[in-house]
Amino acid sequence: MTTKPCTFDIEQIRADFPILKTVKYKRPLVYFDNGATTQKPQIVIDTLMEYYSTKNSNIHRAVHYMSQVCTHSYESVRKTVKQFINAAYEHEIVFTSGTTESINLVANSFGSRFVVEGDEILVSQLEHHSNIVPWQLMAERQNAKVVMWPMNDKGELRMDLLDGLLNEKTKLVCLNHVSNALGTINPVEEVIRIAHQKNIPVLVDGAQAIQHLKVDVQALDADFYAFSGHKIYGPTGIGVLYGKSKWLEAMPPYKGGGDMVKKVSFEKTTYADLPLKFEAGTANYIDAIALGEAINYIDKIGLEQIASYEHELLLYAEKQLKTIDGVRIFGTSDHKAATVSFTYKNTHPSDLGEMLDKFDIAVRTGSHCAQPLMAYFGIGGTVRMSMSFYNTKEEIDYFVASLKKVCSMLD
Ligand code: PLP
Repeated sequence: MTTKPCTFDIEQIRADFPILKTVKYKRPLVYFDNGATTQKPQIVIDTLMEYYSTKNSNIHRAVHYMSQVCTHSYESVRKTVKQFINAAYEHEIVFTSGTTESINLVANSFGSRFVVEGDEILVSQLEHHSNIVPWQLMAERQNAKVVMWPMNDKGELRMDLLDGLLNEKTKLVCLNHVSNALGTINPVEEVIRIAHQKNIPVLVDGAQAIQHLKVDVQALDADFYAFSGHKIYGPTGIGVLYGKSKWLEAMPPYKGGGDMVKKVSFEKTTYADLPLKFEAGTANYIDAIALGEAINYIDKIGLEQIASYEHELLLYAEKQLKTIDGVRIFGTSDHKAATVSFTYKNTHPSDLGEMLDKFDIAVRTGSHCAQPLMAYFGIGGTVRMSMSFYNTKEEIDYFVASLKKVCSMLD
């Protein structure tokens, strides 16, 4: 990745995130757990307050003013998301509760429609559990098989194996765009191109990419793309499934209830058109509306700018961590988002995490919901430092200095 000098005002950006001023022990929080969830800019917090204080009303149902306002705002976020990821149509944007639900939706609905006994789903070894377990559950129901696509020691997918793993039984390829555990950016465009040569669709888990990279689902030619609002500076409990019309049209509803029907009778029920066919029950409309503000916020800064600044942070952090004797970095691909996963000698990662917490530093420790990946390396877990565009080199300096103190205490 080429780096351009950062031209945004980092102090202004930090001021937009009130939580960054939080002092738990001695100094403002150093938040390096952005892979788990990102912090929220004031505009997102204000939007939630505004809608609950003055505008709340259930959508798609009533003719009264506030219901119309909320319906309009909710549906305009669909347009925002469509533009943000460059989908061809608004109806290809389905709101879900997050990446996990988006993947479960496809596993259930696509699975019941297209997967039969003996079929295979190819799933990469780099996956979060939420892009493994739904496929295992589906495979059990359909008497199909989940086939693992291995990675190498750098934490990169074995592209040399891909062609041989795809056969006439393969019904779907599932992989993440960016690995949450290692930060590897996977060559999804290339994977999709190869899979499509054999007419096999591809689902991309974008949970760790959407906040770091410019995503264009048409350029990627992705069949499905899933992400969570809370990882892109929006609220929890809201997410997106992008699906190409041709698949979503052919797939049966995933959940039944209000809003997803055209006509209901005990004799025969017909379903709503896309995207409502997949949005049963009261939608999480206020969180969706706040997600729209989060997207507008980062769109204004620009994802290319964000990617370039975060890449600088990545190189800076890795360079410094490598100077600590006993630190081993996992995930050494040349293509990485701003995540550094490491161990220190044979110290338990959670001991490091707990001690760093006393220095007002938040990192994630453990398997990062990627146990098969950890098993590959023969470890139980790592310390994961996952950065965002509101982090700074000064925070990295403080982190490294604190880590050195922690390591010498442990020695
Ligand atoms: N996929 C990846 C790569 C993730 O990092 C995560 C969460 O950390 C998920 C899926 C699940 O996201 P959520 O819990 O928001 O549904």
